[in-house]
Amino acid sequence: MDCIFCKIISGQIPALKIYENDQVLSFLDIGPLSDGHTLVIPRKHYSRLDQMPADEVAAVAKVLPELADAVICATGAEGYNILQNNGKVAGQLVEHVHFHIIPRVSDDGLGYRWNAKKYPTGKDQEIQRKIIAELK
Ligand code: AMP
Ligand code: ZN
Repeated sequence: MDCIFCKIISGQIPALKIYENDQVLSFLDIGPLSDGHTLVIPRKHYSRLDQMPADEVAAVAKVLPELADAVICATGAEGYNILQNNGKVAGQLVEHVHFHIIPRVSDDGLGYRWNAKKYPTGKDQEIQRKIIAELK
């Protein structure tokens, strides 16, 4: 499989590793949005979060607080975004599940678009009903 993150896991290509255990690997993003921009990935290849078994997601989630704390302390950032893109339409370029830890400081110019809209009457309940039905 031609996956760049699988190649990092197998050691075929280098990465500036920060943390690893038997299920998870974390390394610096090669194209950082800010100093300390870090990626956290499962060792097993999954393209999207919804394809992962819950316990593997949990293994990644388990290390996020400590990693985020270390990144923030090391960089002196005031906050951070956790970003996890699924699908090209959502901005996913590397098709191996990864969580971004993006350190933020005031006036860093990163921003993000959050163009909140309002549901037309009844559409919210309709969507609620459909999502709940999918869970059953
Ligand atoms: P996404 O758009 O969510 O798929 O993000 C992919 C991220 O992977 C980008 O931020 C890239 O800079 C990063 N990236 C791609 N190749 C490498 C690599 N070899 N080492 C570290 N980070 C990488
Ligand atoms: Zn992969």
